[in-house]
Amino acid sequence: MVHFVGAGPGAVDLITIRAKNLIENADVVIYAGSLINKELLSLCKDGAGLYDSSHLSLNEIIMLMEEALKKERSVVRLQTGDLSLYGAIREQIDELKKRGIPYDITPGVSSFLGAAARLKAEYTVPGSSQSLIITRLEGRTPVPENERISKLSSHGTSMAVFLSAGNIGGLVEELLKGGAYTCDTKAAIVYKATWPEEKVIRCTIGTLEEAGRKNSISNTALILVGDFLDSEKEVSRSKLYDREFTTGFRRGVREGTGIICFTDRGQELSGRISDGLFERYKGSIHIYRADSDGKLREWLKDVFYRFENIVFVGACGIAVRMIAPLLIGKTVDPAVVVIDEKGENVISLLSGHIGGANRLAEETADITGARAVITTATDLNDKFAIDSFAKKYDMEIPDPKLIKTVSSAVLREEPVHIYMSAGSDDSMLSEISRQSGLIIHDTGSIPTDISVIAQDTNNVIISIYDMGIPGLILCPRKGYLGIGSKKGVLAETVKAVFGDFIKDNKLFKESIVMAGSIDLKKEEAGIRDFCRDEGFEFETFSAEELNTLNGDFTSSELVKEVTGTDSVCERSALYLALKYAKEGHIEIKKYARDGVTFALALADAKRLN
Ligand code: SAH
Repeated sequence: MVHFVGAGPGAVDLITIRAKNLIENADVVIYAGSLINKELLSLCKDGAGLYDSSHLSLNEIIMLMEEALKKERSVVRLQTGDLSLYGAIREQIDELKKRGIPYDITPGVSSFLGAAARLKAEYTVPGSSQSLIITRLEGRTPVPENERISKLSSHGTSMAVFLSAGNIGGLVEELLKGGAYTCDTKAAIVYKATWPEEKVIRCTIGTLEEAGRKNSISNTALILVGDFLDSEKEVSRSKLYDREFTTGFRRGVREGTGIICFTDRGQELSGRISDGLFERYKGSIHIYRADSDGKLREWLKDVFYRFENIVFVGACGIAVRMIAPLLIGKTVDPAVVVIDEKGENVISLLSGHIGGANRLAEETADITGARAVITTATDLNDKFAIDSFAKKYDMEIPDPKLIKTVSSAVLREEPVHIYMSAGSDDSMLSEISRQSGLIIHDTGSIPTDISVIAQDTNNVIISIYDMGIPGLILCPRKGYLGIGSKKGVLAETVKAVFGDFIKDNKLFKESIVMAGSIDLKKEEAGIRDFCRDEGFEFETFSAEELNTLNGDFTSSELVKEVTGTDSVCERSALYLALKYAKEGHIEIKKYARDGVTFALALADAKRLN
């Protein structure tokens, strides 16, 4: 058997374990002497036959292999990096096949990966490029016409150029021909990546040739180009892990307002709206002047679910066309309003209730003197809208499908029963009691046999914060989750324990505002991943901070010894509640299982912004 083995980029310890085993056991090693690190050969057993292929023709290499195998000796063909890139293994394999010689392939770390590691760079940075082109200038090996660098460079992607350090001037010319890179595009030369004599030179395409000359680079180097090398450039964070990213499953944390305008006049009006909204919300406001549909579409795709509010200054048609492909659903879409350039009408276009577009339209109207155009049915008849009500009092609706049931009951003027926990917000109570058709009960009177109510009426039931009622539930976002764990805990374990924690305590996770722990746990992957997946913002505190709290905590001497505080989860939960709402108490004490602990604090006052 002939084993083709990838030798990695250079550093001896960057080969695979399988490669090491094969080299150690080989009787014959044919290595690419010009490129591999010869220190690797010290792994070979005594008496192994070592041949440098840089002095051999293809034919000679194959004969060597054939002869060794006849004598039942095992052969390793050792080549630099990974064999699948510029390894010329196809021609060797074809010859082996002709002769019926069996072979296998062990991959290696390619030099373009070694180089990225040394540059501490990611080729596929969100916001720069999501593709990597691996290519080379034409040399003795021809490159197909369609793959000339002048053509490939028109994409402006991240690019790793092999086998071209001998003609950097020629390369630069080709790179610029594509029109996507400029002289200012970042570039790097990595000479002998991961070797002791490695050189890493950062430059731009404009200075690439000079950099190569100054450092006498002519071979064994990779040339990398693309925005991915620009560490200054702000990257849009990977959407998958971004807590601000809204998917069909969860609503991310959003903030601020995006105002989109198309003309000078529109821009002037945007400025006025921006000033007015800022005074009211103090949130961040971004005015975007769109000069092309394509760019606007790109921009919107990126920011749509980060903003809470979006204001189009222009025609409804363009707004509808721009947002249509982005919409997910009424519980997650942001508020979108459209105001005409003259500032005469402002239309609540999307997410009137839950998203707050109706209110945004009213406010924009207030600022500009325009007329607010509201078309959602419940507001039209000045009726109670459960979704705006929820938003106003910072409550979540875990099962939004029921919003429609409630709205139609309200429109049909059927009674709606609302069960509120003791201690519910007074202004909320008085708002409800002003509405006809809404009947308030306290949670003490929740009927245990719900079918009784269901049988004789069509009454809709809304309950605040209690479980087990087949009606719409509103969860006040008052909960602060404290988490503790042993070291190295798995995210799956945290998730499983959390599942039990909320089930056993009849909690809705929608009521949780954020999660916290001690700073020792700041980088605990299991906890971080869990928070990311649940969409909880995660904050940590020092033992000293946690120790400033007084109260009756479930304390443990052991925990104190390790962390410096006697209770991690309870103190963290309470610390968060006090930090973000000024008043709070521990609602659920320490819940421990499988090395994970949870506690929940509830805010006793309104959340501060
Ligand atoms: N199969 C190899 C590539 C072989 S072609 C791999 O996967 O890396 C040889 C070319 O690879 C060189 O001209 C150079 O461009 C590049 N190369 C190989 N090793 C390198 C290293 N350590 N640092 C930078 N470039 C390297």
